[in-house]
Amino acid sequence: MSALLEIDGLGIAFGGITAVDDVSFAVRAGEIVSVIGPNGAGKTTLFNMISGLYRPSQGKVRLEGAEITAMEPHLLARRGLSRTFQNLQVFGEMTLLENVMVGHHLREKAGVLSDLLGLPASRQKTRASAESALALLARVGLEKAAYRAARTMSYGALKRLEIARALALAPKILLLDEPAAGCNAVETEEIDRLIAEIARAGVAILLVEHDMKLVMKISAHLVVLDHGRKIAEGAPAEVARDPQVIAAYLGQH
Ligand code: ATP
Repeated sequence: MSALLEIDGLGIAFGGITAVDDVSFAVRAGEIVSVIGPNGAGKTTLFNMISGLYRPSQGKVRLEGAEITAMEPHLLARRGLSRTFQNLQVFGEMTLLENVMVGHHLREKAGVLSDLLGLPASRQKTRASAESALALLARVGLEKAAYRAARTMSYGALKRLEIARALALAPKILLLDEPAAGCNAVETEEIDRLIAEIARAGVAILLVEHDMKLVMKISAHLVVLDHGRKIAEGAPAEVARDPQVIAAYLGQH
């Protein structure tokens, strides 16, 4: 099967300091791939390049064979790539339903335009968007709280809400930046189940996550970064035995 997302020699320097250097790997449709590595290894920077927030100083990103390097995030979203962020990015005063509907609006350019121009979106469109947002909330186990303000929800619930909003963009590949960070064991378990379910439905997942138990359990493939470079990749069991990987993790203490 050919790759859905191809990362080819990607790199970036900030003020002469190389944060990511010549990183290559691929993600196939419906596959869960995780990027791991010690603190400061360059994982989030890599995500920021793939999702169009940073322009790489070297290399290319391709989605379904087409080059998407440094493409603006809303254009990437329309091509089928969406992401979540390490820190929560929810609108606290809005309901969960409204938070997910923001995702739909980002995809439906017309919706954004009519909002900007102060024109009411067509009632039919709003209803369709609400129905599909409700279905997404059900998918992440939050349908009963659809009309509650986001600020009243637990941290774990908000992490799932963010996944629902990213799914509203109908991605082919979803980039999740530490989806379980700050979650307790039960919440992590829920995120774990949810990620596996999303992948089973055919959406590829590229994951950055510090929870090794979670990563080892759900990933088909691991990419290990250290000091901005890829030091290993392969099946989780294989990577866990790699002496270079063990040394990189021990070296951080
Ligand atoms: P963590 O696991 O702690 O989140 P990480 O692997 O995601 O770490 P990054 O946040 O990508 O690591 O950081 C990699 C390196 O790039 C760090 O040395 C960081 O200081 C540097 N860096 C990242 N973004 C910038 C920026 N905008 N300007 C300057 N340096 C940056």
